[in-house]
Order: sequence, then structure tokens, then C-alpha cells
Amino acid sequence: MTQYPAEPFRIKMVEPIRLISPAERMIAMQRAGYNLFALKADEVFVDLLTDSGTGAMSQAQWAAIMEGDESYAGARSYFHLSETMKSIFGFEYFVPTHQGRAAENILTAILVKPGSLIPSNTHFDTTEGNIRARGGRPVNLAIDEAHDPTSHHPFKGNMDLDKLTAFIESTGAEKIPFGTIVITNNASGGQPVSLANIRAVSEIYHRYKIPFFIDCCRYAENAYFIKQREQGYANKSTHEIAREIFALADGAFMSAKKDAIVNIGGFLATRDPELHQTICNELIMREGFVTYGGLAGRDLDAMAVGLWEGLDEAYLAYRLGQTAYLANRLLEAGIPIVEPPGGHAVYLDAARLLPHIPQAEFPGQALAAALYLEGAVRGVEIGSVMFAYPDPDSGKMIHPHLELVRLAIPRRVYTQSHLDYVADSMVRVAEKRQTIRGYRITYAPRLMRHFTARFEPIP
Ligand SMILES: *Cc1c(COP(=O)(O)O)cnc(C)c1O
Repeated sequence: MTQYPAEPFRIKMVEPIRLISPAERMIAMQRAGYNLFALKADEVFVDLLTDSGTGAMSQAQWAAIMEGDESYAGARSYFHLSETMKSIFGFEYFVPTHQGRAAENILTAILVKPGSLIPSNTHFDTTEGNIRARGGRPVNLAIDEAHDPTSHHPFKGNMDLDKLTAFIESTGAEKIPFGTIVITNNASGGQPVSLANIRAVSEIYHRYKIPFFIDCCRYAENAYFIKQREQGYANKSTHEIAREIFALADGAFMSAKKDAIVNIGGFLATRDPELHQTICNELIMREGFVTYGGLAGRDLDAMAVGLWEGLDEAYLAYRLGQTAYLANRLLEAGIPIVEPPGGHAVYLDAARLLPHIPQAEFPGQALAAALYLEGAVRGVEIGSVMFAYPDPDSGKMIHPHLELVRLAIPRRVYTQSHLDYVADSMVRVAEKRQTIRGYRITYAPRLMRHFTARFEPIP
């Protein structure tokens, strides 16, 4: 039995939630075309759709909100954020963006051309969408252990260094306008990347003169995993580890809705003054002036405080402990998940739980729908709905390695009893797994279809 870590905070404001009946859930799902994104949040009891922008801000963040400076240009709030950025990430230049994909949009608009290839360990869906929208191709080169949900490799988010070198050698560096790595690796289970691996990836990119950008949404959780698991880092602070990570990169983009514990925000940072100038021009066209970039002044202040709170080690011990607690409750009941659990979420292994549903009939979608109908718990499919795509050369459907349902845990929001409720609901779903059927898609857009697709159950 895993110990549930006591929260290093207490609660002084509450938000009521309500559990609707099984019959009401069925009506809601039919209306939503069985897509959990199309549900009303009020139809959900425990909402584990995402940890993005769903965290609870602290009293210090709310106090900072009150001090926001809403000047159009040169606001005090911008300089608060700028100081924090320098201290944690150390890049010479950055612009605030309204969220992570806005930073990706700007970066890919500038650097990706038709035929460009962008390597990563595993691109996240928004990054993939932005690269494909400009005619580029995202390429995933994670280590093989990343595709094995039972492997206990301590850094399953790592890039495969041999695959990366071979890939660059075979395609030629001139087709690769930038290279990236995602920490933690969200799309393959929230798994951490080791500092040794980030260092080696940096050396490889730089050997071929490829600019290296880190997708750092969960860099603080990744830093804490490094502290716990990588030799030589036990006595370093997460702040020192973060400094060491970002010193290896030429730039970074972040959704601050993750480890900066804000409801909206992001940034794009670089060391290159010319690239920064181009970024500023794009930013002004798409987001806003360079000192607010699509956010209100108050949001910049909340982010400046949240970046520090996200690095706090008492908080990170609780955060990763809470995730491990949910994972272990499920494992104790024999439910297959991606092991070891990552930082921000538990990933149910739908392929192993529902082996009677083929990939073309979306086992992850089927499991996510069943969990909602059982307990009004909302997770998200991370499998063929999100990542299957027709091969541009052959037209054949290419399915991802894993069919997962992610139960992402919002920061500082749910308690142990909520997680017990989720585990109990999931145990009941597993008991009736034989009765769960696959789905077919009745509508889907060309890119990022998981957000708006509609489904019907296969009888
Ligand atoms: C959330 C996320 C993004 C995109 O950020 P948004 O703020 O949702 O636009 C990009 N990469 C990773 C790894 C993410 O988790």
C-alpha cells in the first residue's frame, strides 16, 4: 500500500462539484458524440482530462494578480516575469505567449518549410499539428523502452541517441531547421529524460549545427525525477538542475499552464538575437506586443510567482507522490498502466486491458468512454484517435505504438478521496471489460481530430 503524501498546503476556497446519475451521463455522451471533449464540465465529477491550466493558484499568485500592471508596453509585470525567466532558464531573450501552442505556432511559422523534418523524443499533438500544418514532418525517436509499458527504465522519456544520429546522417542536417526534446515526455507517459541524455542530444544537434529547442512544459517535474533517480544529482536543488538543463539548449518553449501552475500562459525563449527579432515581429502580428504577448499583465505576474512554486521541492514530492499513489492503487487491482508512473498523470494501457478491440476501433476511446459512463470520471485518449494518420507516401493508416488513456492530475486540486473514487470506478470498469465495444468515427477534421471528432459505438 503506497502512502498518500499529506498536501503541503491547506484549502481556503472551495469549488462545489456534483455527481450526475448514470442515465444523465448516457444522455450527455450521446449528445457529445462520445467525445469527452464535447461534455459540459458540469457533467464531470472528477475531471482528469488534462493538467493544463487546471491547477489551483496559491494565495501568493492571487496576490500577484492584484498587482498586475496593465500598461500596454513596458509593464512592471513583464519585468517581474523577465527576472524569473533569467534566473530559472537563463536565456537571453524570451517573449510571453498565451499558451504553449502559440509559441510553437510562431517557431514553426518562422523555421518550418515544406519538406522540413523535426526530430524529437515524442512530439506532443499540438507540436505535431503545427509542424504538419506548414508541410513539415515530425519525427519521433524515443528509446525502445518508451514503447514498452512494462519496462521500468528510470528515464523512459529519453531520446535514442543512435537513432537520432542515424536519422540526421540519412536525411542531411539542412532539412532539419531545429531539433527538439520534450521534458517530461508527455505523449509517451509523462516519462522523464535524464540530464545525461539531454546533454548527449545537445551535443548531437550541435555537431550538425542544428538549433536545439526544449519543449519544457514539465521541466520542474523532470528536474525532480533527475534529483531522485540520476547519479550525482541527489544533493542539487531542482533550480540548479533546471539551470544545468537549459544551459544545454539554444531555446525553449513552454506551456506555463503546466509546471508554472497558471490557468493561461506560455513563452518562447532563444539565445539568438536575429531569431528573437523575427519572433517579436511574428508575435506582434499573432499575439500582441512583446511585453505582454497575448496575456494580461496580471497573468505575467501569476506566472512569475508560479514558476517558482512549481520548482518547490516539498510541492514536487507531494505532486509525484500523489501520482504514484493513484498508479499503485490501480496496479494493486491488476489494471495495466504505463510503469513506472510519470509525473503528471497515470496512463491506462487500453491495448492490454481491452485486447479484443483492434487499434482501428480505438480501444483508448472505448476505455475513456466506459470510465466516464461508470463514474463521471473524464480522462483523455492518447492513442489512435489522437495519433493515427495516413502515411503521406502509401496512404496506409499508421497507428501509434501505444493505446493509452491518460488520467492527468490537476495541480493542487484533488484530494486522496477523489483519487480513491477514480481508482474504485476504474476497478468496476475492469470487471466488465469483456462487455466493452469499440467505436467508429462519424466525423473528423484533417488535423488534431481528437478535439472535435464524433463517434458511435460499434454494436
Ligand atoms: C500542453 C503541451 C503543449 C501545448 O501547450 P498548450 O498550452 O496546451 O498550447 C506542448 N507540449 C507539451 C509536451 C504539452 O504537454
